[in-house]
Amino acid sequence: MADSGIPVDWVHCRGALAVAPVAACETEPQTNHLVARLLPSGPSKSSEDAMGYANVTAEGGNYASAFVPEVRAQAPRFEVASDLLMGYVLAHEIGHCLLGPHHSETGLMRGGWNRRDAGEISRLSLHLTKQEARKAVARLTLAEGAAQR
Ligand SMILES: [Zn+2]
Repeated sequence: MADSGIPVDWVHCRGALAVAPVAACETEPQTNHLVARLLPSGPSKSSEDAMGYANVTAEGGNYASAFVPEVRAQAPRFEVASDLLMGYVLAHEIGHCLLGPHHSETGLMRGGWNRRDAGEISRLSLHLTKQEARKAVARLTLAEGAAQR
């Protein structure tokens, strides 16, 4: 995300790194907040994004989820560590939150990653396209403005 010009500020709401209850964890996310969830179960229905899920409209959404068991199961196929793959799955789903439900032909937002993409993941070089990055930054800039009103 940082490579795309998107600063990320993590707030841990649950788990060992959780901070004392903060407002951001107790209410619906503001327009400039995205909720990243690591889910302990698999998808309820099969889809091409079986390692993760984002509930989005054409304008985007606020919840990005990764299915932990599915990511761990598929990591060997991609020949990358499961925690690295988990990060990319979350980044892809966060991409849907910023860009909407569509997939691209190349990069982070491809519908299904192949071995070449896996190689880029292992080199930390699978990104949003320049056009996607511009669109995501524009959406976040709008959301920041809305949140400060
Ligand atoms: Zn997707």
